[in-house]
Amino acid sequence: MEKEFDVIVIGGGPAGIMAAIKSSEKARVALVEKNPIIGKKLLITGNKRCNLAQAEFNHKKIVEKFGKKGKFLFSPLSIFGPKETIGFFEKRGLKTKIERGKRVFPLSEKSQDVLRSLKKTLKKNKVEIFLNEKITKFNIRKKKIESIELGNKKISAKSFILATGGKAYPGTGSTGDGYNWAKKMGHNIISLKPALVPIKIKENWAKGLAGLTLKNVKVSVFKNDIKKDSRFGEMLFTHFGVSGPIILDLGKRIGELGKVKLKIDLKPVLDFKKLDQRFQRDFKGNKNFKNYLPEIVPQKMITTILRITKISPNKKINSITKEERKNIVKTLKGLELTTDGLLGFNQAIITSGGIDLKEIDSKTMRSKIIDNLFFAGEIIDLDGPTGGYNLQVCWTTGYIAGIEATKNRAL
Ligand SMILES: Cc1cc2nc3c(=O)[nH]c(=O)nc-3n(C[C@H](O)[C@H](O)[C@H](O)COP(=O)(O)OP(=O)(O)OC[C@H]3O[C@@H](n4cnc5c(N)ncnc54)[C@H](O)[C@@H]3O)c2cc1C
Repeated sequence: MEKEFDVIVIGGGPAGIMAAIKSSEKARVALVEKNPIIGKKLLITGNKRCNLAQAEFNHKKIVEKFGKKGKFLFSPLSIFGPKETIGFFEKRGLKTKIERGKRVFPLSEKSQDVLRSLKKTLKKNKVEIFLNEKITKFNIRKKKIESIELGNKKISAKSFILATGGKAYPGTGSTGDGYNWAKKMGHNIISLKPALVPIKIKENWAKGLAGLTLKNVKVSVFKNDIKKDSRFGEMLFTHFGVSGPIILDLGKRIGELGKVKLKIDLKPVLDFKKLDQRFQRDFKGNKNFKNYLPEIVPQKMITTILRITKISPNKKINSITKEERKNIVKTLKGLELTTDGLLGFNQAIITSGGIDLKEIDSKTMRSKIIDNLFFAGEIIDLDGPTGGYNLQVCWTTGYIAGIEATKNRAL
């Protein structure tokens, strides 16, 4: 038997959930998700802490972070920007906090709490959720979707919102299905590439540091000894290389530059001279060098520093020569790594590329090709840096698509 709705949202990620919440305030809504749960990716965001937004209330500054394509967001952000997003969650009892870099997290630091508050609203608004359901067919007539088929079930609606996400981390359900459907419906898909991707590193010693997080460091990118870019903040060593916020943000540039050298400044607050002066003061005692090192680098890095500086671990610090001291400073101010390419979609945080912005009305999220189709979230050709920007796009576009889908002429 065919079931009828006003709006069908396809994809139960943050964008689809927000769209379903907004449209269900005025209409009968179905949310279709192929996983046994909704929000699978949302649960792993921000190391399961969910950096749900970016508390930058000057929209121009957010728009800039998306490059040239960012201007698409001016109008949507003016309707539902970061301030409104934080308000939306706070109103639903989810207390939030702002961390360094204006990153917004739930106060509980649990992504589960973000999903819980969304699920509660879906339930309150009586959204019918179809889980474990994969769409097998779109029935389209005269530039309008009439119904979708889920195996042997058929559901119809007046408006459809496509929020199936990108191709990054496919294990969470984001396998890029929506791009293929949109393409079949006549949409142009801007070339899909993994974005915010961890970087492979050649040096084996770096792999030995897997699991180590470095906070407040500066990473600079060098191509043929010329500095091309740099970031300050947090990075992480992994079993294949490096990751963490500043590395992910540098990924796109590194992808364009090809093989480059990374230099990690472990002491960015002190310049060469000041660091050297500190060592001159410190090296008056008669500790062994290896016993002094924990005062300046994490325990896990000691072997690495000893190997690179080639100073005997048992050498007394008061007998370290000027040349050795300068070498320690040079190592701490520029720990060198050689990149060996980027990882792919399996490890990427988001997808760059997607539904061509020219074919979406930015005021309504409506397709310019199919009359009753709307888009929300990562499926759209927008990708931002780390810091809550990408989830912000989901909430913003989901909110607008949700409202506009209920205003559809046919409703
Ligand atoms: C490890 C990780 C950490 C991240 N951390 C952050 C962070 O802290 N802050 C931030 O801003 N961004 C973060 N992101 C990015 C953010 O998670 C995504 O931008 C966001 O989830 C995209 O939301 P979406 O709703 O568009 O798509 P998705 O979250 O990908 O959801 C799409 C949904 O559609 C479903 N679907 C797909 N195909 C079908 C189909 N055929 N039928 C039915 N359902 C289908 C999928 O199963 C999925 O549930 C992170 C991403 C990753 C991978």
